[in-house]
Formats: sequence, C-alpha cells, structure tokens
Amino acid sequence: MSQPTPGAVLTVDLDAVVANWRLIRDRLAPNSRAAAVVKTDAYGLGAAKVAHALARAGCSRFFVATLEEAIALRAAVADIDILVLNGFDHGFAEAYARHRLIPVLNSLDEARRWPGGPAALHVDSGMERLGVTIGEAAQLSGSFAPVLVMSHLACADEPDHPLNRRQLRIFAEARALFAKTEASLAASSGIFLGPEFHADWVRPGAALYGVNPTPGQPNPMRPAVTLEARILQVRHVDQNVTVGYGATHLTSGPARLATVAAGYADGLFRTLGNRGHGHFGDEYVPLVGRISMDLTVFDVSRVRDARLSEGAMLELIGPNISIDRIAAEAGTIGYEILTSLGPRIHRHYVGTP
Ligand SMILES: *Cc1c(COP(=O)(O)O)cnc(C)c1O
Repeated sequence: MSQPTPGAVLTVDLDAVVANWRLIRDRLAPNSRAAAVVKTDAYGLGAAKVAHALARAGCSRFFVATLEEAIALRAAVADIDILVLNGFDHGFAEAYARHRLIPVLNSLDEARRWPGGPAALHVDSGMERLGVTIGEAAQLSGSFAPVLVMSHLACADEPDHPLNRRQLRIFAEARALFAKTEASLAASSGIFLGPEFHADWVRPGAALYGVNPTPGQPNPMRPAVTLEARILQVRHVDQNVTVGYGATHLTSGPARLATVAAGYADGLFRTLGNRGHGHFGDEYVPLVGRISMDLTVFDVSRVRDARLSEGAMLELIGPNISIDRIAAEAGTIGYEILTSLGPRIHRHYVGTP
C-alpha cells in the first residue's frame, strides 16, 4: 500500500539553502568564514539534510543548541566541526569526546569543569543570557586556550541601535584577551551590519532558510521553503452563515469555502484566525474564522481556477507569501513560524541530494 496523503507538505529547496550560504560567504570580509547554525533541526527544515548539502558546498563548521542535537548531527555527518551552543553538561563529559563535539563554555563553572580538549568560550557583551563576563574572561585568559571566542548581538536587526557598537567594543576586548584565538560575533542580521562585525567566523541560521535578515529592507536571501496544505473539502455556503469555532466569521454573500488539512497543531498560529491568508495560484484567499487544531478554512469565492477542488494544495508559504509576511500577520517572527511547523507536516526535499 502507498503512504497516506499528507495534510501539509513543506518543500525544502536545498539548492536555495546552499545559494544563501554562498551569498553570505561571498560578502564576508577577507579571512572571515561562514559557519551554519542548524539548531532546532535546522529551524524545522531538517538538520541532517541541510548539513549534508552545506558540507558538500564547503561549510566545515556547524552550531546546534543541545548535546542531543549534536550527537544526532554527528551520526549524520562525520567530517565537520560541531559546536554546542547551550554549553557543557558535565554529567555527560565523555559524550563530547566520543562524538568529537565542541561545547561553547558559557560560565566560569563550565570552564572549570571542562576536562580539556577543544572548546569555545562565550563572552557576554550585552545580551545577558549566557556567557562569561569580560572580567571572568580575563581570569580565564592565562590558563585556558579556547578554539573560538564568541559573543552574540542583541539588536543586530536594528542597524542604528547603540548596543551594536557597544557590543562590538566589548567583543574587541574579549578578542584582545585571547589574541591567538579565532573569534565570532555575527549571526544572520549581524552579517549585514558590515565587515567590522564579521571577525573570523559568522554564524548565520535564519538567513540560510530564507528569513529576511534586514527587516524593513528588501530580503537579500532566496526563499528556501514552500508550505502547502491539502484541500479536504470545498463548500458552497449562503450569505449570513458563520464559520468555525466561536462563529467569528460571517459570510457577507454566497461564498465558496475550502477547508484544508492543517491547523494550530501543525504550527499554524491561531493568531492568524480572520487575519491570515493563503494563495491558490495567483489568487489571494483570506483565512476565515478561527484556526482549529487540524483544520483551517479559506474563502476561495474569487478563485476561477478549475483546479481548485478536493485534493488540491493551497499555498501558505511560497512564491506569493513570504515567511516574513505570514509572521507579520501572525504577530511573530519568521524564526517562530519555521520552528513551530509540526511533525505531521511532510518534509519534501528538492535540489542537491
Ligand atoms: C540562534 C543563534 C545564531 C543564529 O542566529 P540567526 O539569527 O538565526 O542567524 C547564532 N548564534 C547564536 C549564539 C544563536 O543562539
């Protein structure tokens, strides 16, 4: 028997991910290199597939959040550096050596417990989330030789924010403490602040997956995903009928409604109820009523395309709807849209094997 048809399909264009990585690499300052951040299963796109494609394109260094993600990535790709952003878990010390993983040490305590071997040091420069202070970094600088000194920007998507310059100055102090060590500051948006932010390594995540790293400006990245949901039913309804839970949408005339097989359990933000939209071919179709757990309804009255019928796919993210657009409609950011896409959504890969 063949597989049951999925309710929703996320198509991941690995060539676009690779093109985005190359676009970043090609704009870096001389001697700066591009790593790739593939935490949270490469923001929902699939870390093993994405890392394979990027490693073939020449990316040699990858960041994940957790030890578990790192172990899974090591099983998928042998000959890459894997750095673990969330730090060193001393209860599992031998796992780092066994899987050749590089922890990012985020505190003095982690640095003191680290048994030795390659490790990165995170120096906080204004995020106040993880990382040693610049004073603690000075204490460590005599005795400890990390393979990378890194910090993280809080406001890189706001180029004029004064914190960017302040963090750059503290980062420069941290580099001076570990003069022979490579250093890294910028993630996706930080790369676009200019070459003085590039240091030895940049750490893009979201931009690789098509999220706009320069909000408010045209998106320099290529779209890398499309999300389509299957139409389960097309209904013809009269004027003055209500749609969905809470009866929050009232038809203003006879209408045609398409119910698709994806809902908030799949990561469609419930805040999109009566606010979001989809596309069928060239036609904009408003999302009507509340989003249910497994179902969402669109008003497709205006669609003339004869292909609109049960079994057809309706676009939720794609050529007509960017990740950033749906995020704005949902009241969130593209990062949360991608990382919320649930396990029921079928991942389909095109491009580089
Ligand atoms: C998530 C993360 C990144 C990647 O950020 P993007 O904005 O997705 O490019 C880089 N560095 C650190 C420390 C992170 O937590």
